[in-house]
Amino acid sequence: MSEKRTYVVLLGVPGAGKGTQAKLLEQSTGLPQISTGDIFRYNLKNQTELGKLAKSYMDRGDLVPDDVTIRMVEDRLQQPDCSCGAIMDGFPRNLIQAAAFDQMTAPYGGVHVTPLIQVDDDETIRRITGRRSCRTCGAVYHVLYNPPKVEGVCDVDGGELYQRDDDKEDTVRNRLFVYYKQTSPLIGYYFAKGLLREIDGAQSIEDVHSALMAVVTS
Ligand code: ADP
Ligand code: ADP
Repeated sequence: MSEKRTYVVLLGVPGAGKGTQAKLLEQSTGLPQISTGDIFRYNLKNQTELGKLAKSYMDRGDLVPDDVTIRMVEDRLQQPDCSCGAIMDGFPRNLIQAAAFDQMTAPYGGVHVTPLIQVDDDETIRRITGRRSCRTCGAVYHVLYNPPKVEGVCDVDGGELYQRDDDKEDTVRNRLFVYYKQTSPLIGYYFAKGLLREIDGAQSIEDVHSALMAVVTS
């Protein structure tokens, strides 16, 4: 077997706080955040072949096909910054992707832990509809819960903040449906492996981070 790596899989409904927490974990642990949504959005913005392929699925709030997504993650995990592991944000998102991820990580000791960030549906909707994202660096804000210092401007790099097209109401409803149908079975899958840890996502961003650090480092 190759050297052990630390792969953390963040689970939770869209809007639970996975991206926010993945960025904080990246700072605290040094493991890179791998957000499949961010990678797709980057490709969309730059009109690559991958971006053109992903667009119609993302616009509807459906999952991009597994073969494309899995290949994209395999490539990303081979980058040098992933040599100690990674914080997975938005992948795996169904049982096929989870099985593929098990295969990819098996030589390095498999998945370390899968924290489930739990938030109720009303709060999820409030979080998604108030979410604003930086066009250039992908930093995430909330108009009420986590506003930038200057309205509409990213604290990190001064980029423009915008509302994602798929954060509008119709698409959000479909994304939640897709989550319950395709992604939520991962909860049972990882529970059976003894990897699931439940985290109360209704706490402040800082308190969720502390709770996550406790399970990631144990
Ligand atoms: P959220 O953070 O709100 O859950 P993401 O940024 O993770 O949303 O995902 C946005 C969209 O990108 C999804 O609705 C889907 O179309 C696509 N996507 C992201 N990750 C995956 C994945 N692992 N498999 C398939 N599609 C994905
Ligand atoms: P996900 O990646 O799971 O879709 P995000 O990290 O993008 O979720 O968070 C969704 C929205 O909720 C963002 O606007 C973010 O600023 C906000 N948010 C995240 N965590 C919290 C929290 N603990 N309390 C209040 N708002 C939060």
